[in-house]
Amino acid sequence: MLSPEPAKVSYYEKRKAVFPKVVSGPFRRFKWLMLVVTLGIYYLTPWLRWDRGPYAPDQAVLVDLANRRFYMFSIEIWPHEFYFVAGLLIMAGIGLFLITSAFGRAWCGYSCPQTIWTDLFQHVDRLIDGDRNAQLKLEAGPWNAAKLFKRGLKWSIYLAISFWTGGAWIMYFADAPTLTVDFWTGQAAPVAYATVAVLTATTFIFGGFMREQVCIYMCPWPRIQTAMLDEKSLIVTYKDWRGEQRGSVKAKERQPDVIGDCVDCNQCVAVCPTGYDIRNGPDIACITCGLCIDACDKVMVQLDRPRGLIDYATLEDCEHERAGGQRRSILKTALHWRTLAYFGVWAAIGAGLLFALGTRTRIDLSVAKDRNPPFMLLSNGEVRNDYTIKLRNMEARPRPMSVTLEGLPGAVMWTDEMGRESASRELQFTVAPDQTKPVRVYVVAPQGTEEEEFTFVLAARDREAGGDRAETRFDAPEEDHDE
Ligand code: SF4
Ligand code: SF4
Repeated sequence: MLSPEPAKVSYYEKRKAVFPKVVSGPFRRFKWLMLVVTLGIYYLTPWLRWDRGPYAPDQAVLVDLANRRFYMFSIEIWPHEFYFVAGLLIMAGIGLFLITSAFGRAWCGYSCPQTIWTDLFQHVDRLIDGDRNAQLKLEAGPWNAAKLFKRGLKWSIYLAISFWTGGAWIMYFADAPTLTVDFWTGQAAPVAYATVAVLTATTFIFGGFMREQVCIYMCPWPRIQTAMLDEKSLIVTYKDWRGEQRGSVKAKERQPDVIGDCVDCNQCVAVCPTGYDIRNGPDIACITCGLCIDACDKVMVQLDRPRGLIDYATLEDCEHERAGGQRRSILKTALHWRTLAYFGVWAAIGAGLLFALGTRTRIDLSVAKDRNPPFMLLSNGEVRNDYTIKLRNMEARPRPMSVTLEGLPGAVMWTDEMGRESASRELQFTVAPDQTKPVRVYVVAPQGTEEEEFTFVLAARDREAGGDRAETRFDAPEEDHDE
């Protein structure tokens, strides 16, 4: 007998479009603030100017890939100082842990680019289609002229925002006004057009259409955060002991001991940008934006019931409150040992970077010794070793500097430019702004000098202090001890 055909199970769930309702309240106001501040910083920063004198670009924040420099206001980072960038990235990573430890998924709720652009596109939806009910009606309605017009207009605005977003990104990598002209006159590098095209497409798709699916299915950060959260972490939570059993106002009047505060009005779900019902408990789909708190508090105020049926609280606080205790303030909750530990590490790295930044020298020296031949024996018995030294001036102005010999008694040095006749123990140079000057240096030591270590010492010759040292070796023939 044939076995019955196995039932087909689909592991794919089709996206249910989310049409969040407009809401007002403190969390919504905070989201507005974050939207304006973060987008303002992103779009406007490349247009800020910063005077660094005639030898350096005047863009305040610039990743100058062609010249391998990173400018950030008065700070200029060279490739060999990449540890500053690495340090900042580590601080950003630990900063995310710190924020998560203190305020839960605040990054996801208020400042993640996916959240910000999704929020922006949802405002565009409301502007063109109207609020939630109008959007639902339009979505369900036929593709008539009005719907075609609205969709065309809305997607054109999406596209304009996406294009502006991609365009702003490339401005961080070249002088913004020049690149804008080059871009629109077809003279920019192909990589600039390709970058704008890719970022336009990703912003359009992720912010305009995929939205909460990026957070729920694609982004690894919610999974990492889930592992970091515990009963002491601030989350958006529904106080089921207070809200359940759900029922209407009339039902509560009839059975005040049975019916809870939740009137099942669904306002918390209607405003949620990911369409999640927080009454089902904490979930990866909740980005903790707090909009459901705004919505529910409004309902509670209208019904003359205490606010905070949905609240920003730790599970520990909820248990305490359930047992009849008082809620702790958010600040007190945020300040526990784990947060302080993250803050300590974050601040220590920051202090270390600031110290390194404040004490770094803006001139430096590197030395490469010729290995083949390691030395030359001159006809008068003197011994010569050859070196290539590199003098680096990391400031946007010419800098005079000197290189002297430390150790190697009796030795002198010269360069191709000065010749042997001007040989001395000190050489003087002027290095152009933001340049590295390679120089061939010939060091000659008296007859009988043996192999030994010595040091090239670099010193600034202008008002500003600074210098560097580079130890190296002087090779000499071994002495004949048989005589
Ligand atoms: S908004 Fe508040 S009262 Fe309304 S369904 Fe949500 S939790 Fe219940
Ligand atoms: S459940 Fe509430 S806090 Fe979570 S994403 Fe939705 S509206 Fe924001």
